[in-house]
Parts: sequence; C-alpha cells; structure tokens
Amino acid sequence: MRTTIACLCAAVCLAAPGLAQTRAARPLEIYVIDVEGGNATLFVTPSGETVLIDTGNGGAAAARDAGRIVEAAKAAGVTKIDHLITTHWHGDHFGGLADVAKQLPIAHYYDHGPNVQPAQAADDFLKTTYAELTSKAMHTVVKPGDSIPVKELNWRVVASAGNVLKTNLPGAGRPNPACAASKAQDPDPTENAQSVSSYITFGRFRIVHMGDLTYNKEMDLMCPTNRLGAADLFIVSHHGQAISNSPALVHALQPRAAIINNGTRKGGQPDAMRVLFSSPGLEDVWQMHFSLLSGQEYTVPGAFIANEIDQQSESMPIAFWTPPPQGQQAPPAPTHNGRSNYFKITAQQDGTFTVTNTRNNFSKTYRTGAGTAATR
Ligand SMILES: [Zn+2]
Repeated sequence: MRTTIACLCAAVCLAAPGLAQTRAARPLEIYVIDVEGGNATLFVTPSGETVLIDTGNGGAAAARDAGRIVEAAKAAGVTKIDHLITTHWHGDHFGGLADVAKQLPIAHYYDHGPNVQPAQAADDFLKTTYAELTSKAMHTVVKPGDSIPVKELNWRVVASAGNVLKTNLPGAGRPNPACAASKAQDPDPTENAQSVSSYITFGRFRIVHMGDLTYNKEMDLMCPTNRLGAADLFIVSHHGQAISNSPALVHALQPRAAIINNGTRKGGQPDAMRVLFSSPGLEDVWQMHFSLLSGQEYTVPGAFIANEIDQQSESMPIAFWTPPPQGQQAPPAPTHNGRSNYFKITAQQDGTFTVTNTRNNFSKTYRTGAGTAATR
C-alpha cells in the first residue's frame, strides 16, 4: 500500500509545474575522464542526452580506458551514448571505441572523414570495426560551421579535416592581439591537424574542446580575427602539448579555468604551461596527472591534480623532465593502471560552473560576474 501511495505521489509531482522549474535548473554535467594521456570527455545534458568525445587508448589499454569511461558513465547515470565524436584517427582517441560500444549503445557517430596519415592500425580499424559499427547507427562527417543537434546545447563544429571556421560565431569577430605572440610552427601533416573541434554553449556557459588541433590551424582559425570569442572553460588542446595551445587561441579565449587531459609524461611541459599560466583572466589549471614534464616547477597545487601513479616516489621532482632528443630511447613513463579519478564539471545556464576533483573532492565554483572573463 505504501508503495502505491509513493508511486501516485511521484506521478502527481512529475506533472507539477514546480518540479518542471527545478528540472530546467538542472546543470549540464561534463566528465573529463582519465585515459592516461588520451582523450575521453562525456557531456550529459539536463534531460539526459549524452555526447562522448573520444574513447581513450587502444591495444592492451583499450579495456582499461573503456572501463574508466563506462565507470564515469555509470556515475552519471548514463546508459547510452547519443552522439560519439571521434576527433581524429590517432589511437589515443579511438582506441577504446570497440570496447565502449560493447558496453554502451551508440546512436550517432561523428568524425572528420578518412584517415590522412599512413597508419595501418587506423586504416584497419576504419575498414572493419568502425565500418561495422557505423553501418548499424547514424554516421555524419562534419565540417566547420556544422551544428551537432544536442538538446539544450548549442554545439558548433569550428574545425574539421584541416579546415577551420571562416565566419564569426555570434558575438565574436574582433581583431586578436594575441596573434602577435604566436609564431607559426612547421606544417603538421598528421591527423592532429584534422581534429574535429567544438565550441559549445549551455545558456551563458561556454566551453571549448579542440581535440588535438595543432598550432598553425589554431592560428588559421583565430588570426587575425578571433572567430570564436571567449570561453569559460577550456579543455586544453592536445593533452597540454606545446605544438598546440598557441597564445592566439588560449589567450584570445580568456578561459577562467583550463583542464588538461595529460599523462604522467605526456603534455604539461613548460612551454605549454607558460601559455596557460600567463593567460589573461585564467584562474586555475587542473591537471589529470602530475606530469614529469611539468615537474614541481611548472605543475599546479596538488589539490588541482586528479591522479597519482601506481608506484609513488618519495618526493615530487622539482625540476621538469626534458625528454631525450628524437631517436634516443626514453626510460619508461611511470604507470597508472590502478584506481583512476576524473574531473566532474557542473554548469548552470547563467554561466556559473563548478569543477570537482574526484580524487580528493576538492571543488571550486566559478561564479558568473565574479571573474575577469565573466564580466566581459
Ligand atoms: Zn592525442
């Protein structure tokens, strides 16, 4: 009897206008998941629609990374992926896809088109696994300017297949003074430059996720005119490597917070950290891992770091580690196959957002109107 009354009440309450209002106030949730220097970022809208960008590493790491994605999805109460964007055909971005697809149904696949960089593993994956998965679902090749139809979000593709947006997003289009501090690098013929890049808004909250888009493409997009405008949260490009993350992009976006999906020895090196730390209005950088490439010299306070390593050393290295020249063997990177933690972001329509480090539950709320960026 008690059950019946409870059910009745639930049915009545669901129809009540008061609850409808509460629902409208539910946040957007974003999970930046630890896939050891790969990428996996999950968006869950207030009504439960989901977007996953990338699926972590492949090979022996596929089960581990897919498991971490599924674990975060479970924590979010998610049982399906409505939209899966694969930014580009590098193994740290599509490697866990087959394993994820076995555990979570995927309705719609998005990518930039064919692989442009000779790589047997990527070609084989596209010909077999991906062809089979996409034959049973929707599949769209996106170009700059396209919108991805996600309820409650405005999701714009701003780069894809080596092309960048040539028109201004609403409210953008000012000259970009940060171009002066950015000097074109060598051309990048790899898949990185093909990345599907996104500018996403939820009410007044704005987030940028460029995948591994490299420096020169960032400049194509942002110089001399800033096509994107500003952002509140920047998912740092390319795991925080310095062949991406030009001042032309980062400083022009003026994010209030930046999250790096770096590995224990991938990304977070001084050249990239300097661009982040000097970005106008940037309050905090959150690092997925302590990176040997940052050392204590260029890392962030431990409260902002989500993951440790399996065998911890007694002291944190003070000096940043400089990789040996190309061709010389580096010692193996510290491993992290044990418990992994993710960053959870909750964002409100008014632009306020909170980042939580699930390792220590440290969180910080960035209130709209409280910072430099929010007052623009
Ligand atoms: Zn990558």
